[in-house]
Amino acid sequence: MTDQTHIHDHTTERALWPAIWKGFRGKCPKCGSGPILKSYLKLRPSCTVCREDLSHARADDGPAYLTILIVGHIMAPALHVAFTTFRPEPLVLFTIFSIGCVALSLYLLPRLKGAIVGFQWARLMHGFSQET
Ligand SMILES: [Zn+2]
Repeated sequence: MTDQTHIHDHTTERALWPAIWKGFRGKCPKCGSGPILKSYLKLRPSCTVCREDLSHARADDGPAYLTILIVGHIMAPALHVAFTTFRPEPLVLFTIFSIGCVALSLYLLPRLKGAIVGFQWARLMHGFSQET
């Protein structure tokens, strides 16, 4: 009885960090090869390779929140360091950091969405289940 339960728990457990990493790369958290996003941010209803149902994912504002959190914590200290050490022309500083913030945000947003979908898949949240 106890052994059976242990085996059951072991086989049904989904590894968290591999799923997050696969999602960050834009791949299906289950098979790691099918793309989960079409166009820029639209989540596919299911994986094109393994048919895993992805419609249960509820990323909502999570990717935007994490993007702002990370970009803000990278760019605010970088802005301070760049200003105090190089004293550039204000317009030069503004231009570089505007482009940097936008580029980093656009880079991170779909990847963090994939990571959140991977997290929800691994933790069986919102209707992700072992049956599918
Ligand atoms: Zn898949």
